[in-house]
Amino acid sequence: QAKKSGKNRVAKYSETLARQHRRMQNIELAIKSPGFEEELSLRYMPIVDRSRKLRSIEVLLRWESKTMGNVPPDEFIPLAESIGAFSKIDLWVIEQVFKGGAALRERYPMVKYVSINISSAELNSMTFVDELASLAERYRVDKGFFVLEVTETFATGNQEQVHENLSRIRGLGFRIAIDDFGTGYTSVMQMLNYPADAIKFDRSLIKRISQQKNIATARALVELCKLQGLLVVAEGIESAEQRNLFNELGCSYQQGYFHGLPLSFAELDDWVQEHENLSEAGNLVE
Ligand code: C2E
Ligand code: MG
Ligand code: MG
Ligand code: MG
Repeated sequence: QAKKSGKNRVAKYSETLARQHRRMQNIELAIKSPGFEEELSLRYMPIVDRSRKLRSIEVLLRWESKTMGNVPPDEFIPLAESIGAFSKIDLWVIEQVFKGGAALRERYPMVKYVSINISSAELNSMTFVDELASLAERYRVDKGFFVLEVTETFATGNQEQVHENLSRIRGLGFRIAIDDFGTGYTSVMQMLNYPADAIKFDRSLIKRISQQKNIATARALVELCKLQGLLVVAEGIESAEQRNLFNELGCSYQQGYFHGLPLSFAELDDWVQEHENLSEAGNLVE
């Protein structure tokens, strides 16, 4: 009996593996296919200041596949990286945002920055910075309006190239944010050494800090980042409690489901209207 159920388990397991493998193959095929970009769209996630006013927006990619439905970026971006197709996606997103950037700015004058995620593999690319520069030229964008977010996994690549690319991107006038801080194995000191303008505390770090209540360490960490000239953004704020805590710790900006979800353009409009009526305490006025 035990042997039989053991066999069943193995069979089930390899079935699951086979299914996962097929899904990965399907995703890779779809990414390489010519119609891929037509299935992509963008969402806009509010980033707010200490009084919950809109100050910045992070652009997030969505893929609604005709055959697989909604595939989250956490699933397909790593696969795009593994087959070397990340650049075509990044450049597509950047071009869309550059195209719409001026209109966005006109509509929301309180927005100081728009953030775009790029694959950390771009920091090891020999061509990315030139392609970025030529898109900026083509759409005549105000580069200081755009933040490129890179996750700290870039700390594993060729460090000379990484530093050069980061410096060249900033040299063009763009801003750099280090994303997902607290998820990797990089030391804080190494992190602070990268040329950057902002640092985003990852949701998992926010959770750890709010659960363990090791407030003194967190406060020191925020202070250290600020001393380095970095704007500190707390990501994944999900409750009023967390909001108050990270305000108190001195974070400049916050982002998370408590403040606002990734929104379509129309939804963002409603969100902004609602948030123009915030009370001094940052509560929504009905
Ligand atoms: P990220 O850049 O760290 O983006 C934040 C992610 O956390 C988003 O997930 C957002 O919806 C989610 N998030 C923010 N606040 C909360 C919260 O309070 N609770 C919860 N549960 N989640 C929250 P999303 O949109 O699924 O994106 C996942 C990752 O995929 C991004 O992480 C980024 O690394 C990557 N990504 C997204 N868009 C792009 C893109 O256009 N290009 C590239 N290269 N990567 C992208
Ligand atoms: Mg990001
Ligand atoms: Mg992040
Ligand atoms: Mg990320």
